[in-house]
Amino acid sequence: MKGLFRGLATTLSTAFRRPVTLQFPEVKHELPVRQRSFPVLTWDFDHEEPFCTGCMVCVRNCPVECMTAVMQDNPKYPLGQSNRRKIIEKFWIDYGRCMRCNICVEVCNFEAIVMDNTWGGHEHSAFDRRDLHKDLDDLTRASREGRLPAPFRPIDALEASVARLEGKEAPEPGMKGARPEARQAQFERIAAGQGAGIQEREPEPGALKAAAAAAGAGADEELAGLSEKKLRAKRMRAEKEARELAIAEGRDPEAAVAEARKAFEASVSGGGAPRAAAGPAPAAAGAKGDPNSPSKLRARRMRAEREAREKAIAEGRDPEAAVEEARAAFEASLGGAPAAAPGAAAAPAAADGDAPSDKKLRAKRMREEREARDKAIAEGADPEAAVAEVRAKWGVQ
Ligand code: SF4
Ligand code: SF4
Repeated sequence: MKGLFRGLATTLSTAFRRPVTLQFPEVKHELPVRQRSFPVLTWDFDHEEPFCTGCMVCVRNCPVECMTAVMQDNPKYPLGQSNRRKIIEKFWIDYGRCMRCNICVEVCNFEAIVMDNTWGGHEHSAFDRRDLHKDLDDLTRASREGRLPAPFRPIDALEASVARLEGKEAPEPGMKGARPEARQAQFERIAAGQGAGIQEREPEPGALKAAAAAAGAGADEELAGLSEKKLRAKRMRAEKEARELAIAEGRDPEAAVAEARKAFEASVSGGGAPRAAAGPAPAAAGAKGDPNSPSKLRARRMRAEREAREKAIAEGRDPEAAVEEARAAFEASLGGAPAAAPGAAAAPAAADGDAPSDKKLRAKRMREEREARDKAIAEGADPEAAVAEVRAKWGVQ
């Protein structure tokens, strides 16, 4: 008996409760911000054509392969009526297969496709599956008719989430395909300091830096904003080119290098004080990447010596004397200070490193013997005598 009354009480209480259902389709629930129905194409009201260029990126990325696109040359482009060279000619999406994954929206570079987040996007029921094949006209209709006031895009949801976390009002989602008046409203919103719309991308940090540096007084436009590392690389390239040119023209390469460095410093600092990267500073160097560090100076000296030796051999001069000469010239170019501890200059074995091992010394001697032999053969002299001469120089029997 008690249970009977409890059941009746439950029935009566629900009979007078406000219904949770609505009279669909006359009355509809407000859709959640992040809901999404099917992808649709957006319309460019400035040029009266779709934003889609038919680039096929979305087609290739669709996991269920329900999209097909055909590109064509834009007939408006030669007439100067559009800035798109290519435009979509045909586009189909099979809504019967689409799983509404949103991937096509995320990969599109032109913001040409969005998820329809209106009730219109949901109401596609049909008796025949073939009626779910949507063509270009179907896909652009919602945007063309202005029935797409706030299409779902991931960035919109992201901005909304960030704003919510920060306790701010979520910015209204924006879109390229909005009607001009809607876009104008968005610009006003941005001007009022509210959240930027999706098309107002953040400038690249590098671009900002370059712009700030370019605003600096007198700096060379091309060099403005470059990091110290890049400036140094540029300077070294300029010096190398100057040296090669001077050698080719028979001028003094060291003077040419000094000139190139001076010109570079002037262009970087706008004629003012040279920047840190430009100075020779042979002794103070040492930091990683410093072109004047001891190890790099040593490498440069060794390269100069090697070149001098090869040149001397080719010209039939004494290679050792040429090496001595190159070393002296190198040290003179550093202001007379042998910063890189070139080692014992007199010993023929000291050129391949600070502490050459026995193995290296032997290899060097054998190389000299081979060179001497080759040279003697080429000149018709006695190769054995030439080798003996080298071995005597090295103190080997
Ligand atoms: S939402 Fe996903 S399944 Fe549907 S068309 Fe786009 S990529 Fe394909
Ligand atoms: S919707 Fe975007 S990604 Fe797909 S074809 Fe058009 S421009 Fe390319």
